[in-house]
Amino acid sequence: MSDHALLATVFWALYLLDGALAGRRARFALLSWFGGPSAQPAWRRWHLLSPWPGGWRMLTDDVPFSFSPAGICNRPAGTAGRPANEPGHVQAWRWEDIADVSEVGGQLVINGKIFCAATGHMRADELHGLAVACTPLPSDARAKLLNASLRLWLRPAHLRRRAAVLRTRTSLLVWGNLLALVGAVILTAAFLGRLPEQVVITQTSLGISLLLLHAVLIGLAWWERGHLLRLVHRSTAVNNPLMGALFFPPSALRLRALLSAEWFPVSHPVAVALAFAPHTARDELIFNAFADLRWPLVSPGDGDGPLVSEVLTWFRAALERELEELLIHERVDVAILFAPPAPDGATSRSYCPRCRAQFVAEGGSCPNAIALRPLK
Ligand SMILES: [Zn+2]
Repeated sequence: MSDHALLATVFWALYLLDGALAGRRARFALLSWFGGPSAQPAWRRWHLLSPWPGGWRMLTDDVPFSFSPAGICNRPAGTAGRPANEPGHVQAWRWEDIADVSEVGGQLVINGKIFCAATGHMRADELHGLAVACTPLPSDARAKLLNASLRLWLRPAHLRRRAAVLRTRTSLLVWGNLLALVGAVILTAAFLGRLPEQVVITQTSLGISLLLLHAVLIGLAWWERGHLLRLVHRSTAVNNPLMGALFFPPSALRLRALLSAEWFPVSHPVAVALAFAPHTARDELIFNAFADLRWPLVSPGDGDGPLVSEVLTWFRAALERELEELLIHERVDVAILFAPPAPDGATSRSYCPRCRAQFVAEGGSCPNAIALRPLK
C-alpha cells in the first residue's frame, strides 16, 4: 500500500469513528440518521454518529437523583432506561445539611462524598444554589421551587423548536460538508489509482482545494455556533468543539452533528422521546418511566432510610403528576399503554404490570417482588 493510500484509509477510519462514545454507564442517544425531525433512541454504553453529514444526535440521561422539600437522594425514580443505572451506595441529604457541592471526574460530590453521575440535570452550582434557596423556606415554598426545576426537564415543544432551528441554521454547512465528502472520495480514488481514465485531476490542486473548503466551513460553523449560542444566551467561551475539528479534518465533515452536541437543553428522557422518537420507541420509554413510578423495585440491601423513603415518595408523586399533565397536552393516552397484555398461552392467568411477564399463578408476585395482576 502506498503512503497516499494508507493516508486515505486512516482518514476514512477516523471519519467513521469520529463522534463514537463509550462510557461506564448507559445513556440515551437519539440519532437522526438523515437529519429529519425524528430520531431513534438507543439506551447503551456506546454510541455512534450517522455517517451522513445531515445527521444529528442528542444525548440524554435518566435523572440520577430524586428530591423533595425534605432533601435529595441518589436513588433515581421514573427511569426510562432498562436496566436503569442504580447508585452503588444509597445516600440522602437534607437541604440544610448541604454545605458544599462540586463536580469531580463526571460525578457530583456533596460534602466530599461522591453522590451521583453529573448528567447536567443539575450542575454543581445549581444544586448548591437550590440547597441555599430551600434552607430558609417552609415546606410548601420549597415544593414550588422543586416543581419548577422538574418542569425545566419536561419541555418537548421547546426541544422540537431547538431541533428545527439547528436544522435551518446548519443546512448550508451540510451542503458544504457533502461537497467536501465528494472531493475526499475523488481524492481517495485518485490515491488508489481507481479514477476512470477520462477524469483528469491533479491530486495536489484537489488536496489544496479541499483544505481551503475545510477552512471556509470551519469559519462558517464558528460564526453559526456563536449565533446559536447567543440565541440561548450562552457564552461562546467554553470548550469550542470546532477548535479540535480545525486541526482534525475527519471530524469537520459532520459539522451539524458537532454543533448538535451542545445545542439541546438537558431533559427528561420522556420529554426527549415525545419530541423526537417514533411512536413505538416513544411509547416504550413512557411506559418504562411510569412503570418505575407506579411499581418501583425494592431497594437492594437493607432498604432505604426514612429520609430516602420520604424523598422518593414525594418525587414519584410530583413527577407522575407533571408527566400526566404533559401527556394530556401531547395527546398521548397512558391508559392504553397499561392495558393488560393478551395472554401468551392457554394457561396464563396473571401478569406483572412492570416487566409484563406472564404467569400461570393467579396471585403472588414476580421475581422482582411486584404484585401480579389478573389477565382479563
Ligand atoms: Zn415484574
